[in-house]
Amino acid sequence: MRRTLLLLLTCFLLGCTEMKTPCTPFELSAEPPKFFVILDYGHGGFDCGATGTDTGVLESDLNLLIGERVARALEDRGCFVLRTRTDTDALAATKRDDMARRGAILCTEGADCTVSIHMNKYENRRIKGPMCYYQAGAEEGKALAGCVIDAITGGLGLDPRLANPGDNYVTRIPDVPSVLIECGFLSNPEDERNLMDPEYQQRLAEAIADGVLDFLERP
Ligand SMILES: [Zn+2]
Repeated sequence: MRRTLLLLLTCFLLGCTEMKTPCTPFELSAEPPKFFVILDYGHGGFDCGATGTDTGVLESDLNLLIGERVARALEDRGCFVLRTRTDTDALAATKRDDMARRGAILCTEGADCTVSIHMNKYENRRIKGPMCYYQAGAEEGKALAGCVIDAITGGLGLDPRLANPGDNYVTRIPDVPSVLIECGFLSNPEDERNLMDPEYQQRLAEAIADGVLDFLERP
């Protein structure tokens, strides 16, 4: 009995080895990624960011939900995506350490660009809509942010708007073109409702992915 088992096991192992000698279908079809994009989902854990005025939704949760949709859209289009976080937790126990770890990931060598996902909030509840920030003075960052805001406004049927210069850690630290996307205002009733709607989240995410690829694939 033991001998039969041993024989079966040997056949199984040999069979596996033989099957592995040539390329498996996965290896045959796998192509190297077209681009390497780092996605940063703002906040997390003890730092929830802004909260929705009407619903109390946490910015950190929406950043993760919408960011993951962006990640999958980019992966579907042949990109390799590195995330700064993959769950609702912060990256460290303090804000300072969290930002340091985020910065280290955003500076990973070989990336083509970085994209940080956030939600906005403002005391005037009428202010609404997406905004894209680039590091002031960074021409390539400006071009990336321009492609992304154009794709978002075009994809969602919003009035065109320009990307905004700014000075943010997540656009200042990386050596590669970087954009910080404020997807909408959690203080505006329409934006908040939209940003919590899975269908809108998906359209927004695909528009962001379109904009990133418009930039990366430009001649
Ligand atoms: Zn934020």
